[in-house]
Amino acid sequence: MHALNFDNAFVRELTGEAEAGPRIRQVHGALWSPVDPTPVASPRLIAHSAEMAATLGFDDADLASPEFATVFGGNALLEGMRPYAANYGGHQFGHWAGQLGDGRAISLGEVIAADGRRWELQLKGAGPTPYSRSADGRAVLRSSIREFLCSEAMHHLGVPTTRALSLVATGEDVERDMFYDGHPRWEQGAIVCRVAPSFIRFGNFELPFSRGDTVLLKQLADFTIRRDFPELRGTGETLYGDWFTQVCERTAVMIAHWMRVGFVHGVMNTDNMSILGLTIDYGPYGWIDNYDPDWTPNTTDAQGRRYRFGWQPKIAHWNLMRLAQAVSPLFGSVEPLQAGLDRYAEAYTRADRDNIARKLGLSECRDEDVELIRDLHRLMQDTEVDMTIFFRNLTLLDVEAPALDPLRDAFYEDAKRDDAEPEFTTWLQRYAARLRDDPSSPEQRRDRMNAANPRYVLRNYLAQQAIDRAEAGDPAGIAELLDVMRRPYDEQPGREAFDRKRPDWARTRAGCSMLSCSS
Ligand code: AMP
Ligand code: MG
Repeated sequence: MHALNFDNAFVRELTGEAEAGPRIRQVHGALWSPVDPTPVASPRLIAHSAEMAATLGFDDADLASPEFATVFGGNALLEGMRPYAANYGGHQFGHWAGQLGDGRAISLGEVIAADGRRWELQLKGAGPTPYSRSADGRAVLRSSIREFLCSEAMHHLGVPTTRALSLVATGEDVERDMFYDGHPRWEQGAIVCRVAPSFIRFGNFELPFSRGDTVLLKQLADFTIRRDFPELRGTGETLYGDWFTQVCERTAVMIAHWMRVGFVHGVMNTDNMSILGLTIDYGPYGWIDNYDPDWTPNTTDAQGRRYRFGWQPKIAHWNLMRLAQAVSPLFGSVEPLQAGLDRYAEAYTRADRDNIARKLGLSECRDEDVELIRDLHRLMQDTEVDMTIFFRNLTLLDVEAPALDPLRDAFYEDAKRDDAEPEFTTWLQRYAARLRDDPSSPEQRRDRMNAANPRYVLRNYLAQQAIDRAEAGDPAGIAELLDVMRRPYDEQPGREAFDRKRPDWARTRAGCSMLSCSS
């Protein structure tokens, strides 16, 4: 297998622990702990990302070699790898949870790829670490397929995200109680190799702050800025302020993308918020079928629905406030932090208006267009309308004779559609009038809309179908689905099975509409 060029800055420049190995412990005064992956019975590569493999320089022979599955299943280390688990804390569901850390993620090292970019390789499900608490450090096949597929699908949708290189079946079973209801069962285990320029989370800063360890906090902030924000110049408080503002801006951009494509993260705890503004930690996430801002896929969150679709922008802001608090010891006054938080609001509003213009095919978003889309959203919510199909097919509207016809397929219930047809027609007339007042040509408008409104998204039931097949021994559905998701904005004739609205059987099925953190 070809040699990787490792440059392990995180473990080289940041304070780690002297003790190695997975003994469970509270780790003070260190940002990481050395720990090796625990070998598995029979690692077998069952899916990979061609783009990520190419970026890292792996060719087909590498991917086919037994060594590849051995390394990315955690049974061997390559020259230059220095495995570690990161120490972090976090606010979970609004409450400070203390030390969390990488309980089942083990970073192998940072690769400098041929393109000069830094890519950290991290195994998820590679066995216990000092942060595993009472759990086993493993991951099940179903959740690994979901993380693998969604990381890459989000990338192809243009959403900032961590990536996935490989999915390896371990040949070992893992016991899980999927709905925490006293019915555990044995499931197949798997390991995803995730890839990102950095896996640092808000929680990495919160933990040293919570312990009053300003030395460690400053070390981490200086490192993050140096390694991950090299474009920032300046010194002292100005630099910290610019950095915090950047984090706020990037977070705003990420959330606006989620809202554009109908992605619901499901567990926006601060330990699941990337400092780079990448979507990270794909657990009980879900995709909006019928437009519903109140929907959450996460059964663990069913009571308060804190992480519902429509709340994501304000939850991100709440999370940024926690980060502001965590880094406050680096500042002499609160003004730069407040300015950063204000920038979040501005950046989100700007990105949201850009979404409105692009999704509706307008060359600019006027104040009245914000009203226009709000009214549409309200109608869609009341009538159960598929978000993806509706926006994609909106390009087919006859602007001279606006009617519901090209959009009929987007409705989940015929009766509700027929009742709401007059209201929809009124809305479409309003929209058509607005389009006639917009300077773009019909072709420009169509292209603009088709670049913002995907034809294909990783619908929950599609992922579940690939999971069902893989659990029965046929992993081919994973690659098939990934191949569709590689070109989500293109029409793909022959692949109609992948752009259908959620079938009735999937409405209440586990894995399709209800997911838990158990993975
Ligand atoms: P999550 O809800 O997946 O973001 O996880 C929250 C915390 O629990 C993190 O510190 C995880 O590393 C840890 N964790 C989750 N699942 C496991 C597991 N199976 N084994 C060990 N730690 C876990
Ligand atoms: Mg997490």
